[in-house]
Amino acid sequence: MADFDAYEIVVGLEVHAQLMTQSKLFCGDSIAYGAAPNTHVSPITLGHPGTLPKMNRKAIEYAIKMGLACNCQIEQHNYFARKNYFYPDLPKGYQVSQHTTPICKTGFVTIKVGDTKKNIRLNRIHLEEDAGKSIHDIDKENTCIDYNRAGTPLIEIVTEPDLRSSDEAFAFVSEIRKLVRYLEVCDGNMEEGSLRCDANISVRLKEEKKLGTRVEVKNLNSIRNVKRAIDVEAKRLIEIVESGGTIQQQTRSFDAGSGTTQAIRDKEDADDYRYFPEPDLTPFHLQDEFIEKIQRSIPALPEERIKKYITVYQLSAYDAAVLTEERIISDYFEQLIQHTANYKAAANWMLGPIKTWLNENEKEINGFPLQPQQIVSLISLIDEGKISFSVAATRIFPLMISFPEKSALSIVIEENLLQESDVSAIGPIIDEVLIKFADKVTAYKNGKKGLLALFVGEVMKRTKGKADPKVTNKILLEKLKS
Ligand code: ADP
Ligand code: MG
Repeated sequence: MADFDAYEIVVGLEVHAQLMTQSKLFCGDSIAYGAAPNTHVSPITLGHPGTLPKMNRKAIEYAIKMGLACNCQIEQHNYFARKNYFYPDLPKGYQVSQHTTPICKTGFVTIKVGDTKKNIRLNRIHLEEDAGKSIHDIDKENTCIDYNRAGTPLIEIVTEPDLRSSDEAFAFVSEIRKLVRYLEVCDGNMEEGSLRCDANISVRLKEEKKLGTRVEVKNLNSIRNVKRAIDVEAKRLIEIVESGGTIQQQTRSFDAGSGTTQAIRDKEDADDYRYFPEPDLTPFHLQDEFIEKIQRSIPALPEERIKKYITVYQLSAYDAAVLTEERIISDYFEQLIQHTANYKAAANWMLGPIKTWLNENEKEINGFPLQPQQIVSLISLIDEGKISFSVAATRIFPLMISFPEKSALSIVIEENLLQESDVSAIGPIIDEVLIKFADKVTAYKNGKKGLLALFVGEVMKRTKGKADPKVTNKILLEKLKS
């Protein structure tokens, strides 16, 4: 049995993110996902002789945006390089990338695992073009190639080997996904391949300073699979070392079905690619002003929002984290609290009824039919004691969604849902309840105080939820004292 605890796992990640530009990195072809195969393929995409690439300014802007959000240094002198290799889905026989001058250098991303925060250093973020797609499973005899994706702008985010567990890797990719979505530079959709991740994994004895030989695992198409692949691969590597074997530097592929990795090829070195400066694209220099303008366009990021939600709005760390998971959710919440100072209630509406509605209807918040002011009007009615939260959430909220043009108050009146806080109206109902449950009243007086909830529940049932719970509790306690 291998002594797994004696080893440390070391991981460095390479995350590819497709940029949400309209067109490709070097020509006007659309990058829209899901088009019929080979319909977004001009002669430039196909690399026909005599065609010339032209830089997409938006792609540069997006790469810088991500770099600034990750605390990187921005390289002002840039040029592209050709990375030469032959692959059927690479129409030109080379990929245009940035080998020696990545547009963003160093920087870090903060992750949180449990209660521990850690900065994962970045080595670089560079721009490059995507390849096409080889499809092996639609024809028995042949591999089909779709060049639509060829030339799509990508950024590749490369970490230092700073990650020490599959949980840290999971947190890192989640954080990157959140960031690109906040910045609106990539849709973060791993299933469609807009966000992809390769994991470099090695193991070493805990006291060892030198890094072990690494294996690169590709084809990780979900954040969960990044974690799974690291776990199985680390286990495999430890078993090799423990049994006296040597680890081969290799590229492997993860099979999500069986949860195993298989060797694809021995790892190539940089020399194999015969990099040289791309002669068809002029080097480009970035002006300070251009970079500053991008800096100003960056919205408040999750970390900053979380801090504000906890310190200024007095929300729990958990609520703050969930509310900032998606920028559009967080933006909606911030619209709510422009109209109410009851921050806790606003958070509860977001994380309760609204979230449930979105899940059940498979919608994003931008497909939610109610305006922030309408939710705030519900919060105010509750705060004024006119309705209870439960009536608001279960009766009024669904009606508002069906009739968004009606005000909350008009629904309350039409449906006769105004909360009863009049003692003279609730008192007699309480008396009825106490008579019906006379035995429970005796038990209560003998110490079973938990029965209070039963009495309150019964009053609510009889008043169809309209009795003010505060008033009900107060009268009940008085009556039960005697
Ligand atoms: P390449 O581009 O050939 O894959 P890089 O030097 O750019 O090589 O490294 C790629 C990734 O591998 C980086 O994320 C880096 O942190 C990681 N890495 C390098 N050495 C190791 C190692 N011994 N163990 C784990 N990860 C490593
Ligand atoms: Mg690599």
